[in-house]
Amino acid sequence: MKFADLGLTDELLKAVEAAGYSEPTPIQAQAIPQVQMMRDIIAIAQTGTGKTASFVLPMIDILHHGRRRARMPRSLILEPTRELAVQVAENFEKYGVNHDLKMALLIGGVQMGDQVKALDEGVDVLIATPGRLMDLFERGKILLTGCELLVIDEADRMLDMGFIPDIEFICEKLPPNRQTLLFSATMPPPIKKLADRFLSNPKYIEVARPASTNTNIAQHKVFTSARGKREALRELLRTDDVQTAIIFANRKTTVRELNKSLQRYGFASGEIHGDMDQSSRLAELDRFKKGDINILVASDVAARGLDVKGVSHVFNFDTPWHPDDYVHRVGRTGRAGAKGRAFTLVAPDDAEAIENVEKLTGSPLPVYELAGGKEAAEPKEAKAEKAPREKTERSKPKREPREADARRKPAQAEPRRSERRRPDPEDDRPTEPGEWNGPVPGFLNLSAL
Ligand code: AMP
Repeated sequence: MKFADLGLTDELLKAVEAAGYSEPTPIQAQAIPQVQMMRDIIAIAQTGTGKTASFVLPMIDILHHGRRRARMPRSLILEPTRELAVQVAENFEKYGVNHDLKMALLIGGVQMGDQVKALDEGVDVLIATPGRLMDLFERGKILLTGCELLVIDEADRMLDMGFIPDIEFICEKLPPNRQTLLFSATMPPPIKKLADRFLSNPKYIEVARPASTNTNIAQHKVFTSARGKREALRELLRTDDVQTAIIFANRKTTVRELNKSLQRYGFASGEIHGDMDQSSRLAELDRFKKGDINILVASDVAARGLDVKGVSHVFNFDTPWHPDDYVHRVGRTGRAGAKGRAFTLVAPDDAEAIENVEKLTGSPLPVYELAGGKEAAEPKEAKAEKAPREKTERSKPKREPREADARRKPAQAEPRRSERRRPDPEDDRPTEPGEWNGPVPGFLNLSAL
């Protein structure tokens, strides 16, 4: 099937072509015609399936007819996190280049003044996180009575984050005869209840999970001890033609300490997690996108929606506690047809988590044996930290550098002795839900478009 078969306007087809896509993904092929027919839909689709374009494209088509009115957005897209909201806004920019549509982004952490100003001027599309929207609504800055199209994206994540009461409140303020599109990776009972209450005669669409169908991602697990993880990771980073990598850890403290450790070993790495202020996160992402660093250590929330082109590798430093997060994390590589590799480090503590991941993906991950073999699996982190060069050089397989090595960042320099410190013990706090550490486009500091 081609995009042209979906009945999109020529302007939209041009924008899709310019974005480099020729064929709709299954969720796009199924959802776009339904949305255009003004049907409500429930779509079971994960990040990585192309679901964003499946509502953005027909919305542009629908919204380019009609008029903006001050303070009365014509459509509303609810996103659980700021970074997802930003990503949807980027999609509107990309696909809406040939249309005169105005959007506003209502997200926490940015000046409210600009957002209110944009609303006052009238917007076709309002993209918001529930918290900030409620805030503005309660201050009387926004009217939802003109909003005829509502998208609830990542509904199950909204549930995890405690946003369902806000969403119910918002739904009640919208006109009852609106069109509602609900996207969710899973359908737990509270989401089913929400759909029963606020959608009318919805078309049910379900597409396969990207990780279970994405044969572009070679996935492995690597058995190691808890203390051998860093060494195992370094070996993989050095020997697997890593060009760009995102390394996920379950805790913010692990993210920080791991990044420091990688830098001590000379890797060009950066970090992104919820404890950083917005400008530091922006700066770090920018460095990763520009290629100043080629390794980004991230806490879990970044797994949702982080869409950086050409990530060759994803490493799970810890097996994620929630198996769904595995799918999201691994989906950061192998994007849009490119090949990717994903490695999950499995220590005894990860046993239950990896079992759950394998249950979800439907098959055991193949075991990857490190060339350093047993060495990496032994609890020698303390030693490695004291004498990194010696140790890692020995475990490095001997081979000629390949082309990809040349492209690697100025990594692997000898760390200075003064930098070889043991990290502080890691704390046990998981990353708070709702923290934002995803991609930020340049326009974010303007906050309203
Ligand atoms: P999403 O599930 O919306 O997060 O999209 C996942 C990725 O797929 C993004 O990088 C999109 O740019 C990309 N994408 C969207 N539509 C297509 C398509 N028709 N063909 C190939 N890639 C696509």
